[in-house]
Amino acid sequence: MMNKIGAINFKKIKRISPSQFYSMKNCAYKSLLAEAMNKKPLLPVSANAYFGTVLHKILELISKGAIRNEEDFNTTFQEQVKLMEEKLVAHGYDFFVPLQKKVKDFIMKKILLKDHLRFVSERPPRASNTKFHSEKWYESKDKLIGGKIDLVIEAENETEILDFKTGSITQDVLDDNGEIISEVKAEYKEQLKLYAYLYFENTGKFPTQLSLVDLSKQKFTVDFSEQECNSIFEEAKSLLNSTNNCIEKEIFTANPTEANCKYCLYRPACSFYLKHIETDYSFNDVSGSVQNVVKFQNGNVSLYLESGGKLITVSNLPSEKFDELNNSRNKKINVFNLKREPREFFYSAIKTTMIYE
Ligand code: SF4
Repeated sequence: MMNKIGAINFKKIKRISPSQFYSMKNCAYKSLLAEAMNKKPLLPVSANAYFGTVLHKILELISKGAIRNEEDFNTTFQEQVKLMEEKLVAHGYDFFVPLQKKVKDFIMKKILLKDHLRFVSERPPRASNTKFHSEKWYESKDKLIGGKIDLVIEAENETEILDFKTGSITQDVLDDNGEIISEVKAEYKEQLKLYAYLYFENTGKFPTQLSLVDLSKQKFTVDFSEQECNSIFEEAKSLLNSTNNCIEKEIFTANPTEANCKYCLYRPACSFYLKHIETDYSFNDVSGSVQNVVKFQNGNVSLYLESGGKLITVSNLPSEKFDELNNSRNKKINVFNLKREPREFFYSAIKTTMIYE
C-alpha cells in the first residue's frame, strides 16, 4: 500500500520548547503539521540522527549520575542502542540497523562519549553548597514556553546553564571584513537565552553563564543580556499566538526554502512544499503524475513522472513497487529521499526513499 496522508486535523500548540523555537520561527507551518501528526515524523531521518538521540540520552544519564563508571556506561550504551534499533525495525526502517555499521565514526563517537564520565567526575572543585540539577523541567508561569535543561550548576554567586550537543555547535559565517569565522549556531544561542529566561521566571534571578558542550567536551559560551532573554521570550510567545491563530482563521502560510525543508520530516503533508517542487527540481524529492512504469529483467523498476511540463525519471525502485505504481497511472504521487543523478530530471531510489499518494 502506498503511504497516504489523509485529512489534516490541525490542533492548537499548547506550549513550545526552547529547542523548537528557532525552527518554528523559520517555518511555523512545520510545527503545526508536527502537532497535527502527533509529532510522528512522516519520513526517516538518517542513521547518524538516530544515533545522536542515543548519544544525548547517555549524556543525560551521565550528567544525572545514573552512569557512574565504565561498566555502567557499556551496559547502558548497549541497551540504548538496542532500544533504538528495535524502534527503527518497528517503524520499518531496518535499513538503518545495525547502527554500528550504518553510522559514520560510531566507535569514535562512543569513545568521546565515554570520556564525558571523566568530564563529570573531574568537574572543577566548587564550594560544598554547589547544586547540580540535571534534566530539570522549567516552564514559564503562563506555561506557554517550557523545556528540560540538561544541566544547571548553582553556586553561591553564580549559576551556569549547560546544554549538551552531539553534533556540531558552530558554523562558518562571514564577518564584516568578508573573512570566514566560526560562530555558535544562531538556533543554539536563542535556545539558551530562552532557558535563561525560564530560569529567571522560576528562581527570580538570571544565570551568570550560558554554555554549550560538545561530544569532545569543548565548551562554548553564549553571551547574553537580560534584555535579550526577555525579548526572545516575548517573541516566542507572540509566535505561538500567531501560529495558533492561523488555525482559527484557516489561513496558513509556509516558507519553503532549501534550508527549511531539507530536513523537515513533514514534507509529505506540506502542500506548499509539494507545489514548490513541481517547478523547482533542486530538491531530493519529486512530485508529478505517473506517466509510465517499467520493470527491467533484473527486477528494478523505473518510474516516469510528468511535472511542470518536464518528464522526470526515477530509477532503481524495488520490484515490489511495480504493481502499485502501475495501478497509479495518471495519478499524482510524491517521491521523497531520492538521489539526484548528474543528468537533469534523473533520480534514483535509495533505501530511505518513500512514496506518498
Ligand atoms: S516542508 Fe518546508 S515549507 Fe513545508 S512545513 Fe516543512 S519546512 Fe515548512
